[in-house]
Amino acid sequence: MKKIAAILLGMTLVLGGCGGNGQTAATTAPESTESTTTAAETTAEETSAQGVYKAGTYTASAQGNNGPVELSVTFDEEKITEISIGKHGETTGISDAAFEKIPAAIIENQSLGVDTISGATYTSQAILDAVADCVTQAGGDAEALRAVAVEGGGEAEKAVLADSEVDVLVIGGGGAGLSAALSASQNGASVILVEKLSALGGNTFRCGGAFNTCDPERQKDIPMTEALSSTVEKVLAHEDVSEEHAKLKAEVQKQWDEYKASGNTMLFDTPEWHALQSIDAGDYEGNVELVRAFTSNTLDTLNWLSDNGVQWTDQVSTVVGALWNRSHQTPNNSGADIIAALETNATESGVDIYLDTKAEELLVEDGRVAGAVLTNSAGDKVTVKAKKGVIMATGGFSANVEMRVKYNKQWEDIGESLTTNNTPGATGDGIVMGEAVGANLVGMGWIQLMPLNSVSGGGISGYVNSSLYCNKEGKRFVAEDQRRDVLAEAVLAQTDKLFYIVCDQKEAELRGRTPEVMSYMVENGLVYSGDTIAELAENMGVPADALEETVKEFNELVKADKPDQFGRTTWENTIEVGPFYAPSFSPAVHHTMGGLEINSNAEVINTDGQVIPGFYAAGEVTGGIHGTNRVGGNAVPDALCFGKVAGEKAAGN
Ligand code: ADP
Repeated sequence: MKKIAAILLGMTLVLGGCGGNGQTAATTAPESTESTTTAAETTAEETSAQGVYKAGTYTASAQGNNGPVELSVTFDEEKITEISIGKHGETTGISDAAFEKIPAAIIENQSLGVDTISGATYTSQAILDAVADCVTQAGGDAEALRAVAVEGGGEAEKAVLADSEVDVLVIGGGGAGLSAALSASQNGASVILVEKLSALGGNTFRCGGAFNTCDPERQKDIPMTEALSSTVEKVLAHEDVSEEHAKLKAEVQKQWDEYKASGNTMLFDTPEWHALQSIDAGDYEGNVELVRAFTSNTLDTLNWLSDNGVQWTDQVSTVVGALWNRSHQTPNNSGADIIAALETNATESGVDIYLDTKAEELLVEDGRVAGAVLTNSAGDKVTVKAKKGVIMATGGFSANVEMRVKYNKQWEDIGESLTTNNTPGATGDGIVMGEAVGANLVGMGWIQLMPLNSVSGGGISGYVNSSLYCNKEGKRFVAEDQRRDVLAEAVLAQTDKLFYIVCDQKEAELRGRTPEVMSYMVENGLVYSGDTIAELAENMGVPADALEETVKEFNELVKADKPDQFGRTTWENTIEVGPFYAPSFSPAVHHTMGGLEINSNAEVINTDGQVIPGFYAAGEVTGGIHGTNRVGGNAVPDALCFGKVAGEKAAGN
């Protein structure tokens, strides 16, 4: 079980976060295509005038250590009366204490301020997050419940932040914040990092950890194909949209001409090509200078992460929406691997980390951002003065429906009808705090939907190289190697806004899914399976003849290795070796592309185009890199590259 859970870690996270509705959990609504979090079995028709909650039972899931943890919470009008744990893949033994103690402590104290259990931090956090979600569904105030004092229920003594003075204050403990804190500390600064939730990690922990970079060593055995060449030619043929774009395009054209003249048959890639592709995929809305600063820094950052204990496999693939074979992966296909290494190194380097500590507003002195006012884990207001700078790394606003609706200019409906697979901490706080001190906001209307949000609860591969996507009619409907916005839009037009990824045993093995893991997923209803395509189709509930025809055509296309009728150019393996598998998916709000404007030194820019002294930002809280559509596998390097730069610059180097 332990081994299965360890491998499931990668499986679930690579798909982008929260899993689907339980097919086995008693209190979960039937399979929904719109949301992984559903209100279920509300027993009271109306909210009592005096009541805190709409009485009833509500179901939610949140990301644990090995994937989604489902639970349901029963409320009367005044309190939480019962918490039932549903489907999950957490490791028996390690997670037991969290399942026993956390729900009991929540009920006993009627509080979400319960300490996490050491050794089972992420399971504990998942329980707290999912209960918080149910509280919100029941009309309660999850934030207020977090602040309710707790008598026991946890183990660790929580560090309580007092009024302090430090060189660098980092706000947010995801990938950007941890890399900023580590790099500031390694560059000689004293550093305080605050995280408003009870665990570090943010979205970086939840994601698959895919890291795009040009990497001649790891890419050396990947063949260049005619189909891939056509992609380069197409992007190079785009008309000039600005001087910077024309200059970048000319550089890539030169590199491409030299590559072709050299007779090289292996994959073409350069930091400039990565930049040009990212700009093209974001419909030329990204800031070319910033994107170039990013892609020219990714390999150095990858190596810096390796020096700081992050492991990368030798394999490079194309994560969904990545458009090119440059997505690096960790051994578990998991951002949790990156967070664990950064946390260890930051702590060892002397960074002071405070959990359950929320930054509320920035302090400005003489035009300089000089610190912040925060609420500490005891619920008290404290002030941190930061002599060298404040680094904002609070992530995006996918979990803030109001902000989504306010800024969205891309989707017909981005409100409650769509779930998010983000951390509940992604509420846009840093954008609000930054705007209040004059920061310019860029690209706020562009919001990414992740097409691969698991509905059946499991997944096998978030990489598109050998993936076949089919709808409920058993037919392909899109080029699987397309941009995420194109994929999401295509899925939203399918029956029940749902699709399946069909793959075979060969692909499962390639992605490290052993037969043991696959049996676990099949037995727990996390993926559909069949020894033949017809049997798989029957279990999926799609027409067998249609799926058989689709797979047959797909295999012919793989062998032909040419652009197909949808324009797909990335082909690798056929689907021929049974047993066959198919988890189901539906889009979820995943990444907010807009945010604080920064320059290539990660300095925040104000509405007059000037640097705000003492103010740095990195990661999803910033805007300007991804344009209308973030390339899959660009978020983690964006957060970590600019986090590292922000740390160096704030420390004064
Ligand atoms: P990025 O990828 O940019 O690092 P993440 O989502 O991984 O973004 O991490 C952002 C982190 O910031 C989350 O863990 C979130 O809980 C935290 N955070 C958000 N707002 C605040 C705040 N006001 N104070 C402290 N931490 C915050």
